[in-house]
Order: sequence, then structure tokens, then C-alpha cells
Amino acid sequence: MTDVSWHTWADTYQARPRRTAAPGDTAAVAAAVLSAADEGLRVRMVGSGHSFTDVAVTDGLLLSPTSLAAVRSVDPEAGTATVEAGLPLCDFNDVLAEHGVALANMGDIAVQTMAGAVQTGTHGTGRDSGGLASQVVGLEMVLADGSVVECSPDRDPGLFHSARVGLGAFGVVTALTMAVRPAFLLYAREEPMPLDEVLERLPELRAGNEHFEFFWFPHTGNTNTKRNNTADGPARPLSGFRTWLDDDFLSNTVFERVNRVCRRHPRLVPAVNRISSRALSARRYTDTSHKVFASVRDVRFVEMEYAIPAEHLVDVLREARRIVDRGDHRVSFPVEVRFAPADDVWLSTAYGRDTAYVAVHVYKGTPHEAYFADMEAVFTSVGGRPHWGKMHTRDRSYLEKVYPRLGEALAVRDRVDPGRRFGNDYLERVLG
Ligand SMILES: Cc1cc2nc3c(=O)[nH]c(=O)nc-3n(C[C@H](O)[C@H](O)[C@H](O)COP(=O)(O)OP(=O)(O)OC[C@H]3O[C@@H](n4cnc5c(N)ncnc54)[C@H](O)[C@@H]3O)c2cc1C
Repeated sequence: MTDVSWHTWADTYQARPRRTAAPGDTAAVAAAVLSAADEGLRVRMVGSGHSFTDVAVTDGLLLSPTSLAAVRSVDPEAGTATVEAGLPLCDFNDVLAEHGVALANMGDIAVQTMAGAVQTGTHGTGRDSGGLASQVVGLEMVLADGSVVECSPDRDPGLFHSARVGLGAFGVVTALTMAVRPAFLLYAREEPMPLDEVLERLPELRAGNEHFEFFWFPHTGNTNTKRNNTADGPARPLSGFRTWLDDDFLSNTVFERVNRVCRRHPRLVPAVNRISSRALSARRYTDTSHKVFASVRDVRFVEMEYAIPAEHLVDVLREARRIVDRGDHRVSFPVEVRFAPADDVWLSTAYGRDTAYVAVHVYKGTPHEAYFADMEAVFTSVGGRPHWGKMHTRDRSYLEKVYPRLGEALAVRDRVDPGRRFGNDYLERVLG
């Protein structure tokens, strides 16, 4: 046992690996996997630890991604870019911008590693473009026997379809080839709107915007809506002061203090939410796509998110509101609602269905179990699929009912990792 301890961003799980290594290229990853096999150790490459679940935890050899972080190529004409597993998404965005290209869509932070983000199905919101894994067109991987393979829709498609959202279960991803498009600006329109109006106008808001999402403030009927659409320009970014005020001061510094007070005095939460939901006023700006998609999140929280069939969203939110109104829980964090088109990634939360995502959060250190359990019951009643990197209590017996291709993915796993070299406790629960 090393003295190295590793923990997730939210400190929800810790790991005490037997050994760590930071391989600098694909051959070094293969050698590390083989040496772990000799010692009978399980192996896992971690990302930046931003999953809330124990999906990244290992008791064997922990591979750090920090030395495997080069951009291998960017080909604007082909619309592809190949990046090593450990490069943070924000750094990849910058390199793509230098070449005049960009990813079509992403989530709301960009500090995750490329492989870590893709492996759990990280997504943003989109009408036409889906999560990061749906933008992967090829993977380079090291399998359990130390072999280096490339897979794509044409080369070992079974492995490709299984391993894009692969939870690290199929092998160590060493490089990803991503689809990219010409760089673009987004016009962001953010404004408060009553929840009832959002739900009534949902079809129009979704159809009329490339990226629509909203945040509902529990204990109130208020939301903050965000509409991001491709724009010709010119870029009109927020002023430095407005960015600091909204994104740093109100969304991070003040929000942190407010949450600390609410954790100590939960009865204040409804009144505080009424004030918070009015504090962020409407704003409009135009900026480089990745600067609009992603922002900094300093306030630590614990999150559960489910992907539900989009047609159930209104009923699910009404039920969620009834649960909050019943008064058993005091919830200081907004509920985030996003969307994705159906994709073809076997273990993606949006596989084969038009999807709405509903995410619930609590401030770090606040008990989440009872609130999450009540919400999870609502999400699973409509066949919801939990985000693989966010808190949930589902196991294989449930997941095989909501993932029609799970059986095929498990057969691929039996082929490429029969001895479960890449296993961990989380995978035993969700994949068996
Ligand atoms: C503040 C915050 C905001 C977030 N926002 C969003 C969001 O907007 N949308 C969303 O969908 N999710 C979001 N998440 C969740 C987050 O994007 C995912 O949990 C993501 O997987 C974290 O990436 P990571 O690099 O930290 O990977 P880790 O959490 O470290 O690892 C995730 C998984 O990937 C595996 N892995 C990592 N590298 C490799 C590799 N090279 N080969 C094989 N397997 C590998 C790990 O073993 C593990 O199984 C957020 C999380 C936080 C804390």
C-alpha cells in the first residue's frame, strides 16, 4: 500500500491504491497494464476526479493521466482532432480555437480530462448536438492483455459502441479522435421565467433554440432560463466586472456563504431561494462557443442526475415540486434541466431516445440521502437512466431494463477483459 490517497472533487469517495504511475505514452500504458497483471493488481486510469460516484476508484494500480496530455493532430478539413486521454477539456478547447475549430457541444465546466469526461457520458444541453461521447469518432485503447487497439464505427464497431461511454471497464483509453466543426460564436440570452411558463412553452423553447436549459429554484416558482444560439457576431463578451459579479461573486463567493448559512439554518432556505432566484438578472452577450458553454464552479456540492425520456419531463418536474412543497427537504441548490437528442452510444444516457436531464444538488456537507432518494424514485418511475458519474443507487438488475444494448456491451467486456483487470466495486454493482 502507498501513502497516496486520492479523492473525488466533492470528497464523496477516497481511494488508497497499491501503486501509482503516470505513463507518458501508449507504450508506457501497455507496460503498466502488463506489470499490474504480473502483480495481480486491478488497474484504473483516473481523470480529474470530478465524478461523484466511485466509478474512478481503484485499490490496485492507479494511472494518473497528467503525462498523457498531448494534442496529436487537428485536421480542420477532415473535421477531426486527435487528443490524448489526459488533456483537460479547457486546454483542448484552446488548441482547437488556434486551429479555427471547436467541439459542437459540451457540459458546463471544462476542467475534466477528455477521457474522463467521455467515459461517464458528460453532456451539456442541445437540440441537434449531443454529449461528448457522441462526438467521438475513434478511440485508441490499451486492453487487458497489453495490446494496443484502435476502434471506430468501421474497426471493431462493437468495442467502439461499448467503450465510448465505457466507465473505464473496457480498457485504458490512450487517445480520442473527436469530430470538430468550424469555430463559432454563441449568442447567450439568460433571463428569469416562472416555472409554469417554462413548462407550458417547453416545446417552443426547445425547438426554437440550439441549446436551451433552465434552473428551477426549489421552494419557489422561479427559474433562470438560458438560450444559446449560433451567431454571426461580432463577439460582445460580458464586461470583466459583469463576469466577476455574476459568475464569480454571485454564483461562487456569495453562493458559498449563503449555502454555509443555509446548512446551519435550513429553515431559511425557502426565503433565501426567493431572493437568489431574483438576484441573477437577465443578461445577453455573444462569445466564443466554449466560453459560453462552460464556466467556473467553485462551490462544492454533491449531485445526482437522471436522463429521462423527454416526454415525461413536465410530469416529473411537477412531482418533484410536490415533493419539495411537502416540506421534508430544504434544498438550497437549483435543479438543473437540460436536453439531448437521441444518440447511438450503447451506454450513453441518451441512447436511442429524446432525452431530458434533471439534476439535483446539495451543498457539500448537507445530508443528501433522503432528498435524492425521493427524487430518484420519481426518475426511475419513468425509466430514468442515472448519470454514471453522479450519485445514484441503481445496480445491474435495474440498468439492464433501461439500457437495451447493455447485454451486448457486457459480451464485449467478456471478450476484452475476461479477468476484470479494469474492474472495481462500482463496476461490480452496475455491470455485474
Ligand atoms: C463541478 C462539476 C460540474 C460538472 N458538470 C457536468 C456537466 O455539465 N455535464 C455532465 O454530464 N457531467 C458533469 N459533471 C460530471 C463530470 O463531467 C463527470 O463525472 C466526468 O466523468 C468527470 O471527468 P474526470 O476527468 O474528472 O474523470 P474521473 O471522474 O476522474 O473519471 C471518470 C471515469 O473515467 C475513467 N477514465 C478516466 N480516464 C480514463 C482513461 N484514460 N481510460 C479509461 N477510463 C478512464 C475513470 O476510471 C472513471 O471511470 C460535473 C462534475 C462536477 C464536479
